[in-house]
Amino acid sequence: PAAGRPVRLSDLPIRDDLRGRSPYGAPQIDVPVRLNTNENPYGPPAGLVADLAEAVRRDAADLNRYPDRDAVALREDLAAYLGHGLHAAQVWAANGSNEVLQQILQAFGGPGRSAMGFEPSYSMHPIITTGASTRWITGAREDDFGLDPEKAVAAIEEHRPDIVFLTSPNNPTGTALPLEAVQRVVQAAPGMVVVDEAYFEFARTGTPSALTLLPGNPRLIVTRTMSKAFAMAGTRLGYLAADPAVIEALLLVRLPYHLSTLTQAAARVALAHQGELLGTVDRLRAERDACVLRLREQGLSVADSDANFVLFGRFPDRHAVWEALLARGVLIREVGPPQWLRVSIGTAGETAAFHEALTAVLAFSD
Ligand code: PMP
Repeated sequence: PAAGRPVRLSDLPIRDDLRGRSPYGAPQIDVPVRLNTNENPYGPPAGLVADLAEAVRRDAADLNRYPDRDAVALREDLAAYLGHGLHAAQVWAANGSNEVLQQILQAFGGPGRSAMGFEPSYSMHPIITTGASTRWITGAREDDFGLDPEKAVAAIEEHRPDIVFLTSPNNPTGTALPLEAVQRVVQAAPGMVVVDEAYFEFARTGTPSALTLLPGNPRLIVTRTMSKAFAMAGTRLGYLAADPAVIEALLLVRLPYHLSTLTQAAARVALAHQGELLGTVDRLRAERDACVLRLREQGLSVADSDANFVLFGRFPDRHAVWEALLARGVLIREVGPPQWLRVSIGTAGETAAFHEALTAVLAFSD
């Protein structure tokens, strides 16, 4: 670089496959109504905050020591929450399900290997995959954003990926997959199958979890998070359930002491308050269903949603709609297929503010 000018990223001997890339980033803009990252809009209840403060006070006295490297007590609590007869040896946790996914890629992907997902889906799957020097293969979803099992199996047989991602309910579309589709993929896949169930708790009652397929399927991994239904996005706690041998594989790549004492404590306090935390889920589901109806009444296309967000369209210039909403203090997400936008379900007041702003924006643009 010329003397005096700031160093640019391109001046550095960065990996060739990272050159020219942009970092993941939903804008974090401070506006009155933030409905862009699928968080739970309800803050933790006062009892949880008090218990968390107490747990931190207790654990703070030992912060000169490293945390429990294997987070055994937390994994026991997570296994109890998941049910399905799971125990701690089948559960693993990390800093958000993104880190869980990264560890899976580190253990089962790598140079010369590939991972496949069916798009539109969660944008971090290809980013984490390529960050682990693993080739990304794009499979397709149908026009209604569902998965045709025949086509999915054919794509898997053609490409033989080392890892297959299924996201159910899917982000950004909200689409849940029937268990039979997951089963077909698990049978066809030559390698690991990751079912990302970050939004599982918001699915319509009766939707079965891929957890039911774990017995006899040692190459199946089901990931979950406390960022959404549990209203704990700030804690950064994601987890998975799989065969104990899968967890042995992850122990080879995880950093020692990756989950801090305070993270483990906060997650355990949240699990102890699961009844209250998950009490918000019914409210959010009802708001979601009302949001879908209302947008359809306005003549918009709306994807069926089993999650805490709704994908709607179609706008020839979606960026203009996104910007006009932002100008009215409502931040949503410009993500997914062209012409569609995604709104997270907020409190009743926030969702009402979104509808009001959108109605005004659409009237203006007519
Ligand atoms: N999977 C999906 C499908 C998601 O939408 C998200 C968050 N947007 C995550 C995983 C990651 O969540 P976290 O790292 O907070 O657990």
